[in-house]
Amino acid sequence: MRIAIISDIHSNLEALKRALTEIEREHVDEIVCLGDIVGYGANPNECVDIIRNTTTSVLLGNHDEAAIDLSKTEFFNPFARIAAEWTGQTLTEENRAYIAGLELTLEKHGLFFVHASPVDPGEWNYILTPSDAAENFDAMPVDVGFVGHSHVPEVFCEDLWTREIVKGEKFIVNVGSIGQPRDGNPALSYGIFDTDLWSYRNVRLDYDIELAAFKIRKAGLPKNLAERLFVGK
Ligand code: ZN
Repeated sequence: MRIAIISDIHSNLEALKRALTEIEREHVDEIVCLGDIVGYGANPNECVDIIRNTTTSVLLGNHDEAAIDLSKTEFFNPFARIAAEWTGQTLTEENRAYIAGLELTLEKHGLFFVHASPVDPGEWNYILTPSDAAENFDAMPVDVGFVGHSHVPEVFCEDLWTREIVKGEKFIVNVGSIGQPRDGNPALSYGIFDTDLWSYRNVRLDYDIELAAFKIRKAGLPKNLAERLFVGK
């Protein structure tokens, strides 16, 4: 079985459509979304609608939570807070109810899925370094876990210095972000895991950044949310 894992779409319809076109071409068996469907970008409802209709499982992200409960924007920077308020006003009642029903974690096919971190999933802690990852391996009930949240694709192994998934070793894999990559590469990012081969592949694709950025400016959202898409920061 092959599973596509996508995360951090952030209302970027152009990036989401580009990713799903490629994922469809690959004929994967399941699509798991690790959350942050909304926040930052200009098409929250369109992205929620597509995610609802195309994915197998969806988890809650901190920006999804903030859009339906603005009291949760306490630790957001000012631009993220403005975007969360705008998203909260823009989301339909139906999509708000959908987000409110999302779970924090998922375990299936011998794999673990969470938006931010296996330890205290609702605290939205970042796994950025090997030592951050080290604190999280014991909280995983299985060997391989998938996260998003930092928007930086990475593979952390518990005992080995390797980015290649090895059976019998524990790994935390960050699949990167569809709608707002932050590793200096503006190409959208997601992952494909093959449960038969026990192998992982990170996919990067160009998409229509010009259009996504134009829509952000047109919606009156902070300009830097458009500009950062071009540099992947
Ligand atoms: Zn995010």
